[in-house]
Amino acid sequence: MYNEIYEKIKEYETIVVARHIGVDPDALCSQLAMRESIRLTFPEKKVYAIGTGSQKFLQIGKLDKIENFADALLIVCDTPDLKRIDGAKPENYKFTIKIDHHPFIDSFGGIELIEDDKTSTCEIIMKLIEDTPLKCNKEIAEYLYMGLASDSNRFLFNSTTAKTFKIVADYMYKYNFNLEELYNKLYLRPLSEVRLEGYISLNMKVTENGLGYIVITDDIIKEYGVDSASAGNMINDFNYIKEVLVWATITEDKKNKLYRVSIRSRGPKINKIAEAHNGGGHSMASGARVQTVADALFIMKDLDEELKKYNKEVE
Ligand code: AMP
Repeated sequence: MYNEIYEKIKEYETIVVARHIGVDPDALCSQLAMRESIRLTFPEKKVYAIGTGSQKFLQIGKLDKIENFADALLIVCDTPDLKRIDGAKPENYKFTIKIDHHPFIDSFGGIELIEDDKTSTCEIIMKLIEDTPLKCNKEIAEYLYMGLASDSNRFLFNSTTAKTFKIVADYMYKYNFNLEELYNKLYLRPLSEVRLEGYISLNMKVTENGLGYIVITDDIIKEYGVDSASAGNMINDFNYIKEVLVWATITEDKKNKLYRVSIRSRGPKINKIAEAHNGGGHSMASGARVQTVADALFIMKDLDEELKKYNKEVE
């Protein structure tokens, strides 16, 4: 399938690279790496990376605006479902390629490269570049490392395998990137965010079944002087708490009049529950958007019941 993707890329003059809404480092870095690798391999092609940016990830790389995408090829990175593609619809393109590590949800109608055992879409693209004539340089290797390190939560998740370390080591030998510089781009944050983390640890509710959750209202977001996206992204900092097997943040997004639910697990699979509430994601990292706190609490109830069953089974 890697070569099929390379041949399709070769065929098209204009290529648009998209990813999911609610940008995160793997989505952004996978699309920027694809754009740069195609530009480097085929300098005559017009290649654009599109989608809504985020202040938080501005220092990682810049996105493009496109006016004319008639007859273009669409590559969608890190997105399993049609409704979450940011700024593009496969039906408006000549052909669509999906490159993704989420469990399958919707077909985009073209080539579907799905490897849901991989840490990240960036890890898949590392292999794609290694196994095809697509070119790479230090900038592209750095994008790929940042996306992989971020989505594996710095190699903490179980999706990290010997193959992951091997391919990362190969890229490091070849492109000799500086980890400290990359971690500064990914993880440097203002004190206000750390203070909000303190608020979350002090106020997280924990059920007897091991569900930890917190509602972060707009008032709290304002009090701590952070933005809603940064508050929602703190979920990964609450892993490895003995009493908590599944944890969630319910973050108010006043501008968009919704609540973003982010869920993580070290025990039962959670993606089916997220899907049942109009969300989705991976077995151990999922999310949903709901209209009210009450809707979010329904998800918490389902998660708590799932934990109860899970705890009985492992006893
Ligand atoms: P997050 O907690 O926002 O980092 O999301 C964790 C995972 O769940 C990611 O793989 C997202 O793609 C997925 N996800 C988050 N929100 C939604 C949603 N509303 N619908 C489907 N999948 C989602």
